[in-house]
Amino acid sequence: MDQDDAGRLLDVVKYASEKHAGQFRKGSARIPYVNHPIAVAQLLSETGTTDIDLLSAALLHDVVEDTGTSIEEIVSFFGIRVASIVKEVSDDMSLPHDKRKQFQVDNARNLSNEAKLIRIADKVSNLRDIMAYPIDWDTDAKMAYARWAEEVVAGCRGINPALDIVFEETMEKFNTFVLSD
Ligand code: ZN
Repeated sequence: MDQDDAGRLLDVVKYASEKHAGQFRKGSARIPYVNHPIAVAQLLSETGTTDIDLLSAALLHDVVEDTGTSIEEIVSFFGIRVASIVKEVSDDMSLPHDKRKQFQVDNARNLSNEAKLIRIADKVSNLRDIMAYPIDWDTDAKMAYARWAEEVVAGCRGINPALDIVFEETMEKFNTFVLSD
């Protein structure tokens, strides 16, 4: 990564932090929300991604969905490729919760490779956070989340074997965690 790339990524981190300002992860630990997109980008980096557009899209993957930022704004700040990946992984918030969840499952195979990688890393980060921080979900809710994540990831895997392994390992830990909960 040259200095320009580092600078670009830091710009994206700053932008995402500002967009998610005042938002927190679920649970009582009050972890700043932006830690989650940072963790998603970090996971992709740790499993070999050097594509700066993809890492940028990972950092921005929840800004449209959760902060009302427009795709046009992402295009103007970070370019069409980053914006189109972010668009692919943004849920349509006009749909009810259950429909959005089902759409992620049904649409997984239609995603670009870049969007698939973000989807998997997103689920790993969420599973890890459920294990790491107190959350007021009962065992059934945690199990249901894990089964849904598996369904989404089934349609996304096969692009990056290292990331697929991280997902499997996380799921194994999660299943043990839920059973001992
Ligand atoms: Zn996310």
